[in-house]
Amino acid sequence: MLLELNQIIRSGGSLPFAFTLDLSELEFYGSRPYAEPIRVEGEVANHAGMLVMSGRADTTLHVSCSRCGKPLLVELNLPFEHLLAEHLEDEENDEILLLDGTVLDAGDAVTDDLVYGLESSYLCKEDCKGRCFRCGKDLNEGPCACVPELDPRMAKLSEWLKQHEE
Ligand SMILES: [Zn+2]
Ligand SMILES: [Zn+2]
Repeated sequence: MLLELNQIIRSGGSLPFAFTLDLSELEFYGSRPYAEPIRVEGEVANHAGMLVMSGRADTTLHVSCSRCGKPLLVELNLPFEHLLAEHLEDEENDEILLLDGTVLDAGDAVTDDLVYGLESSYLCKEDCKGRCFRCGKDLNEGPCACVPELDPRMAKLSEWLKQHEE
């Protein structure tokens, strides 16, 4: 969504905005977490010559548990705030979003926040036991039939013990 800020740059005040963002094609660690439309709401305000864009993005993330792989729905309510400028006086400052003339692409501005707003992993519950790496059983549902593999040194020891029992 493009916002023309000419008016508030010249005369002050604020400009509210509300739009829906579609990032359903965005891939993150092999999944598409933003499967649902993202509701974005906020305003650009002129605070004594300083332009500030602020607001909130809300959606339901479609992710999966990084241990057991179960699909998860996670509510995301992400606040954001950016300083805007027509020109960059300090090239080093990447906190400031540069306007294209007096126009702000609000969707672009929020997209970065949404990408950084994702966690690198999600869990279905704090103590998810994951899956057995041999048979693939979900260990939250109970133990599997696999015998735990012995440390090779322990295996030798148990062999030795067996021989000396007889
Ligand atoms: Zn899990
Ligand atoms: Zn198993």
